[in-house]
Amino acid sequence: MVKETELFNDCINIVVGKGNENADILFVGEAPGRKEDEQGIPFCGAAGKNLDKLLLSVGLSLDDIYVANILKCRPPENRDPRPDEIKAHTPWLLKQIKDMKPKVVCSLGNYATKFFLSLGDVDLMKKQPGITEIHGKARDVEIDGVKFNLIPLFHPAAIIYNRTKLTPLWEEDMEKIKKIISGA
Ligand code: URA
Repeated sequence: MVKETELFNDCINIVVGKGNENADILFVGEAPGRKEDEQGIPFCGAAGKNLDKLLLSVGLSLDDIYVANILKCRPPENRDPRPDEIKAHTPWLLKQIKDMKPKVVCSLGNYATKFFLSLGDVDLMKKQPGITEIHGKARDVEIDGVKFNLIPLFHPAAIIYNRTKLTPLWEEDMEKIKKIISGA
């Protein structure tokens, strides 16, 4: 399905994921950016630096988590993912979730959060609340028979653009994550 999308023809690498596929915690972002496309590794650019800080602050390393994206290929000019692209690319993510069976999924930003709140039904994504409203509010979710605790978080790139406003909220969410993962 991924290989049938225009995005595949335009990208350099398919970006599948990084970290420990047997971990209990999965982080899901939106789509690869330029650096990720060049290197074939998720979150290896500027947004990745913020994600690394987050992980460090809650005492996690790539041994403890796996990181993937909604889209596996970079959209041109980093434009927003389109519904048809999300539909074509997320069966791969759902397969990753079925194989991994994570206990906790941290959704990074609006697209990943809305995808999980819609239980994978892309047509319902528009109706979901935005990340500003529900960041840090964990909830139980079941998709394709896999149950996990969903923790919606701001996207690490959003912190770059809105540091003053979002950093304190992001830090509060980190404290919540720490509590949840200590029980995961
Ligand atoms: N932003 C994302 O959502 N994912 C990446 O892999 C990099 C930047």
